[in-house]
Amino acid sequence: MTLDSTQGAEARVRDPFSSLSTRFTESVIREMTRLILAAHGDQGINLAQGFPDFAAPEAIKEAACAAIRGDVNQYAITWGNADLRHAVAAQMGRLHGLDVDPEREVTVCCGATETMVATLLAVLERGDEVVIFEPFYENYGPDCLISGATPRYVPLRPPAWDFDPDELRAAFSPRTRAVIVNTPHNPTGKVFSRAELELIAELCRRFDVLAVTDEIYEHLVYAGQHVPIATLPGMRERTVTVNGLSKTYSVTGWRVGYAVAPAAITDALRKVHDFLTVGAAAPLQVAGAAALRLPDSYYQNLLAGYRERRQHMLDTLDRAGFRAYPPDGAYYVMAGIEDLTDEDDVGFSRRLIADAAVAVVPGSSFYAEPELGRRMVRFAFPKRMATLEAARERLLALR
Ligand code: PLP
Repeated sequence: MTLDSTQGAEARVRDPFSSLSTRFTESVIREMTRLILAAHGDQGINLAQGFPDFAAPEAIKEAACAAIRGDVNQYAITWGNADLRHAVAAQMGRLHGLDVDPEREVTVCCGATETMVATLLAVLERGDEVVIFEPFYENYGPDCLISGATPRYVPLRPPAWDFDPDELRAAFSPRTRAVIVNTPHNPTGKVFSRAELELIAELCRRFDVLAVTDEIYEHLVYAGQHVPIATLPGMRERTVTVNGLSKTYSVTGWRVGYAVAPAAITDALRKVHDFLTVGAAAPLQVAGAAALRLPDSYYQNLLAGYRERRQHMLDTLDRAGFRAYPPDGAYYVMAGIEDLTDEDDVGFSRRLIADAAVAVVPGSSFYAEPELGRRMVRFAFPKRMATLEAARERLLALR
């Protein structure tokens, strides 16, 4: 505790934390990971946090080892290793036909996580509003608050996780500065359709709003097609595309992400990023360039593996009595618990850890209004088939 010395004899004890820090809680996803570890050690099955329990590609592990052996041990240039930035620009061109300048439009950060908050700090003014589709990846709310902005939520409703165009229109106003679009979407697996993105783009143009789009699951699409909003007319100059190595290359612990944005936004983002973290791990950026140059067959095999896991997970949930909403993309399933229990999502998730040694995420943690998620939980399936099989046995035994 710190004493406020200006108060003399009437000294009061100051809170040792900022009021900002009280406006959000510990990440529920990380909390569930902690709880299952504490309760069951390595016997627990963590279907809460979205990280693979299988190996990263051999070629990129080799590239990382070679970089360290080759003494890539010092700070990378703050906005990112040139080879990685060139690989990012080349991939954006090859996959999406976007012409990206690696010198002026790409910034490498510590994961998509830092990329997102650094972007918002770089573009938002206090009091700006940010449109966020709800449910949402839980970082976006705190990211807005840290940036001094006010989130405006637009609901995605099950079973198809559609939004009401009128509700979206009503969320945009002259106060709106940005909209966060996460496609493919965590936690629902929604892949935004071209028509939906066109409406978002039209509103961005009309209200002079930036699209900050999190495309970290772009290679995991089971139905529909991934459309980067930057490819729509008039959007390249008002879009920040956030992406990273974590999910596509199964290296969530490497903490390498990046943004592609017009030069003026990139300048601002690079300054914020520099003073936040200086740079991402230099040897892992070198390996990242090798990752982005993997052949097409890598992405085809990745997707085939995830299709199999997805189907296994859906079969398990169906047999175990959950009401699953099959995802079109990413590697999560939102599932209703109404046929299984009268408990709420948090009570049910805690019991699942205690009784089945399986961790999931309570649905409410993806909503600003927790009541909307009280009857759902989220399963993550980036796991070996043996892990998913063991999870199946435990979940079926619950019935
Ligand atoms: N964005 C989304 C939508 C995610 O689901 C996650 C991780 O679960 C992240 C970003 C985090 O990415 P990174 O590991 O690159 O920080």
